[in-house]
Amino acid sequence: MKIGIVGGGPAGLFYAYLMQRDRIACGQPPHDIRIVERDAEDATYGWGVVFSDVALAFVRDIAPGLYDAMTAKQEVFDEMAVVHRGVHVTLAHNTFHRMARIDLLKALHAACRKVGVAIEFGRRVDDPAAFGACDLVIAADGANSAIRTRYAEHFQPTLDERPNLLVWYGTTRLFDALSLIFRQVDDGLVIAHTYRYSPKLSTFLVECDPATYVKSGLHRMSEADSLAYCEHAFADDLQGHRLLSNRSSWFRYTMVSNARWHHENIVLIGDALRTGHPSVGSGTRLAMQDSIALFQAYKTCGEDVPTMLEEFVRIRQPGSESLRKAALKSTAWYEDLGPKLSLDPVAFAYDYVTRSGRVDHAEVRKRDPELADAFERMHPEVFAARPI
Ligand SMILES: Cc1cc2nc3c(=O)[nH]c(=O)nc-3n(C[C@H](O)[C@H](O)[C@H](O)COP(=O)(O)OP(=O)(O)OC[C@H]3O[C@@H](n4cnc5c(N)ncnc54)[C@H](O)[C@@H]3O)c2cc1C
Repeated sequence: MKIGIVGGGPAGLFYAYLMQRDRIACGQPPHDIRIVERDAEDATYGWGVVFSDVALAFVRDIAPGLYDAMTAKQEVFDEMAVVHRGVHVTLAHNTFHRMARIDLLKALHAACRKVGVAIEFGRRVDDPAAFGACDLVIAADGANSAIRTRYAEHFQPTLDERPNLLVWYGTTRLFDALSLIFRQVDDGLVIAHTYRYSPKLSTFLVECDPATYVKSGLHRMSEADSLAYCEHAFADDLQGHRLLSNRSSWFRYTMVSNARWHHENIVLIGDALRTGHPSVGSGTRLAMQDSIALFQAYKTCGEDVPTMLEEFVRIRQPGSESLRKAALKSTAWYEDLGPKLSLDPVAFAYDYVTRSGRVDHAEVRKRDPELADAFERMHPEVFAARPI
């Protein structure tokens, strides 16, 4: 097949790798695959990425060699912490794998090259015609997909810009536990989502609501002043370490979904198709699962592109939709924290754990008996009227 791929992020790269590896394994001539990536090869934004245990298991199952390369430099820790009023409440049995985003991309670049897929860097594609006649065009060009925008009347995207503001920093302070830190400051509330992803660095994503953003003056601060404000707000947590900027500026997160996933021979995958949210850390997982599903649709339907694309939607839509809904619920929890700030640290952490509505007390007890015990001890009134 002749396949043009717009975007060399996890979705586009992983799909190309799976397709070409399969041809080699079947002893067939290679597909004609072309990946075009706007950025330079060593360019990367952000800091680390985090995957839950479950999220990495699916890569291990389908591509063990890539899994080994991806995880060669990973950090794995089994703990989360919710910090409210300066008190750390530990949430046990939350295994997360963390790695630098650039290391993930490098592992995918190497995997693609190994199966003979070339990647063209430093070139932007806004029109699928750039590939000439093609059997299939993969729009893996991220959350602001130009291809999706070009065919918006067919894909019918919904772009739901959330109210909270976010900024990605790094720091040399190493947070082994994936920590959610809630700090009440004079101007309102600031939240840090932070985790160590290498022996030297942690990701430090700061979030605040619109009222705090304006009252603090962050909306008109320079990059350096914003960074200094956040360093001050989280001084107790950073313990003398600095925040690091990588062209870090505030943005509002847009949750993307599409009524239609394909049009003619063009299909959306990854963030172009639907985004998760940093608070559930599932964007890379969703993107790579799309690649697997599209590859599996090819294995089921062969080169009959319309049938293959229908099959892709059929197998992928239910899982994708349930994760998207979970991401939306999680996002909404962070957007309405005011009434919860009066909770004591244990009740606050408990509220966090049960925020999706899918985890009840029995489930908390199963996953984290210490938290269940602490909550029962401190809040017997919750259980007085009903059996535990
Ligand atoms: C700073 C940051 C940190 C993140 N941290 C996490 C995390 O910890 N865990 C997690 O799971 N997810 C995280 N995410 C989300 C995650 O990066 C995305 O969900 C995931 O990368 C989606 O993969 P993708 O391939 O669909 O899109 P992307 O990774 O966005 O890749 C799209 C690629 O297309 C290229 N491109 C765009 N337009 C064009 C064009 N017109 N022509 C050619 N190329 C183009 C872009 O340069 C980019 O390389 C983070 C995102 C950001 C921005």
